[in-house]
Amino acid sequence: DKDELLEKLRANLSRDTWNNWLTSAEILEINDKKIIMGLRNIFIKETVEKRFGTIIQDTLSNILGKKVSVEFREIPITRESKNSVTGPIIKNRPLKLSEFNPEFTFESFVVGESNRMAYYSALEVSKNPGKFNPLFIYGDVGLGKTHLLHAIANYVLDHSPDMKIKYVTAEDFMNEMMDGIRSSGMDKFREKFRKNVDFLLIDDVQFLIGKNTVQTELFHTFNTLFNSQKQIVICSDRTPEDLSTFHPRLISRFEMGLVTDIQAPDKATKYLIAKKMAEMISFQLNDDVAYYLAEHIDQNLRRLRGAIMNLVLQSQISGKEVDLDFAKKTVDSMIKMNANKMKFHSKEVIDSIKEDSVINAVALELNLDRKEIFSNSRKKDIALARQLIAYIFKTNFKMKTKDIAEKLDKNHSTIIHSIKKIEQSLLMGNEVIKESLNNIYIKLEEEKVSM
Ligand code: ADP
Ligand code: MG
Repeated sequence: DKDELLEKLRANLSRDTWNNWLTSAEILEINDKKIIMGLRNIFIKETVEKRFGTIIQDTLSNILGKKVSVEFREIPITRESKNSVTGPIIKNRPLKLSEFNPEFTFESFVVGESNRMAYYSALEVSKNPGKFNPLFIYGDVGLGKTHLLHAIANYVLDHSPDMKIKYVTAEDFMNEMMDGIRSSGMDKFREKFRKNVDFLLIDDVQFLIGKNTVQTELFHTFNTLFNSQKQIVICSDRTPEDLSTFHPRLISRFEMGLVTDIQAPDKATKYLIAKKMAEMISFQLNDDVAYYLAEHIDQNLRRLRGAIMNLVLQSQISGKEVDLDFAKKTVDSMIKMNANKMKFHSKEVIDSIKEDSVINAVALELNLDRKEIFSNSRKKDIALARQLIAYIFKTNFKMKTKDIAEKLDKNHSTIIHSIKKIEQSLLMGNEVIKESLNNIYIKLEEEKVSM
């Protein structure tokens, strides 16, 4: 029964999560393998899908005692929703030109030595658009650049709702331009970026390295907006100067205003960021755990966030509180996995390992004969061996599913399923699979060394 299922789901999630995000949730359909959940608006739908999708899916699977997938849909506004109490977070946020992440705000941004300049510059241009023009923020991946761009957008939307503010990644900019050239027309494209914009945020501008036509277009967009005193903010993973193959006139435009960097956070700041991230998703993160994360996870704050999400998921599944031991185990295996994964994502290492060695290493790890792997046996070990091989081929060797299917002499959908199976196990923190995979990586590494 739909209401009953929803009630059980609610009982399995934290009260804050429910109140903030899921009060509009409705089960629209229950099939044998799929559950369709409706949510109030596109923002809620997307956030829930991204942030809680896996947890909801796992929880529902647990409740039903079988694996189900969950599809999220937006409930059209005209339809009267049964659960008409809405969560407080997003209710009144209007949908504007582009969609901004409602969680990336100045309030949710922790200020430390490493990002103080970037933070205050961003805040200043939000309050006084045009004052420092352009604002150029550079820094490594995962240090909060995109967060600041969205924070600017959210601030401007809250304080000057009439201002037309637009956020694009350089890649979006290029794609929309290509679209203009191909079909919708360049006039329309130019109108969109030059006339209908009061405030332009461009993310990851380094993407345009080597793309001269797009740079030229950006240059003209820049000039038009700049000349009519419209604020422009640009983010990049390197300084303007280091965008060395950029057209010099574009670089000098970037340098014309305020250039500021964002550095790796120190431990204390990382600790506070961990606490803030947890707070944002209403997750109880103990101080010692937060400190452990700050100490052991590198500067890329996406990994910090990943670790926290991992803890949330694991505690949901196990029903246990996250204490230091629990966190240590999770984080250690995450770090170990990452280190190995990273090694095995390097092209040089991959090129030196033969596909056959992977099959041998898996066979060895699972105590199987190579021949057995290619047999039609449905024995559990053998199925697992094939899944692991498919997973490694896909994630580390970047092979196409089609080619993996051919190599293992299985059909396409079996391979897709195999890869998903391993991914799911890893996500659920399945220690046995993690351990096996690690051992296989180690075997491959040893073989490489001895070659
Ligand atoms: P970048 O764009 O520089 O690669 P992001 O803006 O995507 O980095 O940041 C990565 C993650 O870290 C995001 O979830 C972001 O909210 C979070 N984050 C980064 N800096 C901070 C900070 N100072 N306070 C709180 N969260 C932060
Ligand atoms: Mg970014």
